[in-house]
Amino acid sequence: MATAGKVIKCKAAVAWEPNKPLVIEEIEVDPPQANEIRIKIVATAVCHTDLYHLLENMHKDGFPTVLGHEAAGIVESVGPGVTEIQPGDKVIPLFIGQCRQCRFCKSPKTNQCVDAWKGNVMTVADSRFTCKGKKVLQFAGTSTFSEYTVVNEIAVAKIDPAAPLDKVCLLGCGVCTGYGAAVNTAKVEPGSTCAVFGLGAVGLAAVMGCKAAGAEKIIAVDINPEKFEKAKVFGATDFVNPKDHNKPISQVLSEMTDGGVDFSLECVGNVGVMRSALESCVQGWGVSVIVGWTDLQDFSARPIQLIAGRTWKGSAFGGFKGREDVPQMVKAYLDKKVKLDEFITHNMTLDQVNDAIELMKHGKCIRTVLSVSPQ
Ligand code: NAD
Ligand code: ZN
Repeated sequence: MATAGKVIKCKAAVAWEPNKPLVIEEIEVDPPQANEIRIKIVATAVCHTDLYHLLENMHKDGFPTVLGHEAAGIVESVGPGVTEIQPGDKVIPLFIGQCRQCRFCKSPKTNQCVDAWKGNVMTVADSRFTCKGKKVLQFAGTSTFSEYTVVNEIAVAKIDPAAPLDKVCLLGCGVCTGYGAAVNTAKVEPGSTCAVFGLGAVGLAAVMGCKAAGAEKIIAVDINPEKFEKAKVFGATDFVNPKDHNKPISQVLSEMTDGGVDFSLECVGNVGVMRSALESCVQGWGVSVIVGWTDLQDFSARPIQLIAGRTWKGSAFGGFKGREDVPQMVKAYLDKKVKLDEFITHNMTLDQVNDAIELMKHGKCIRTVLSVSPQ
């Protein structure tokens, strides 16, 4: 390729500071170093974790940065030592890498590679981006609100060349996260009763995972009733808006299910909802999984909840080991075994990224897919 080995000048949405609109800028993207891969991003979606960094966490050390971590693209060039991936391959960048060598990668029990978060810790040394003479940090080791990005090879999944990138980009985060939380982490059982709190893409994917695992009753919980119709599409059987009740939501669910659900999944990122989700699952064997993202507050619960036999777990990226499992999820989509199109409520271009952020902020979308470069 004509650009291999050279700095690429391209368009990216830069978050210069917290809580401010992103600015479309020309940035310089360095060539990939050893074991790195430069990717032309074709499509990227906006996930709530991007909003968390920009609007909720707002830690000043995390700026300036290029957000975005749910995307798909085509490899432009590879650095020395990369053997499994070639220019032209269709890929999905991974915000949790998989080195395949460490004790975690060797265990089937987890996707928490020892290097998983290495690329995520934003440092100037790890970034290949410059804008106006200033180094710009790479969010989640990916930074997909950019026409080009550079990612470590442990954080790249090579996918089927037949995959439509403007759809499978959703497998880079939200859909794998929710689906895997139900199937891999909660290990939802056939005939069981489930409750999913929060019906964004993550929660809806959790509903889809509960259904795929054979759950009989799937209670969809959201304070925005506009989300219920979509939840039905993914398999929800019952709908609860906490605002319609003047007693704790765990009591409402307990009354609906003869003492509590078998599995509950928190897909909001709110410590109060995490507690409600735990308290909504049945004593004896109930399993509650935290999927929503926050690191700003401690959570609390009464020890008796766990002593009575409930299990409280967390799940990152649905427990999926990205390099093996994401290509399998792409295949499942191509084989019509998982839905993706139904999550996409809006299609826009990278220039409209601030509009996409506003939509999510106000609960007006499930996923907005931004087209970044032609396929
Ligand atoms: P989203 O904003 O699209 O959806 C969140 C939903 O929660 C909305 O429908 C909202 O109305 C609902 N909600 C808000 N408060 C509620 C309450 N008190 N009770 C019930 N519902 C409530 O977000 P998303 O993109 O689907 O992400 C959901 C969460 O998952 C976020 O916290 C995100 O950061 C997190 N996340 C975690 C991982 C992971 O690996 N664990 C990965 C991706 C996203
Ligand atoms: Zn995400």
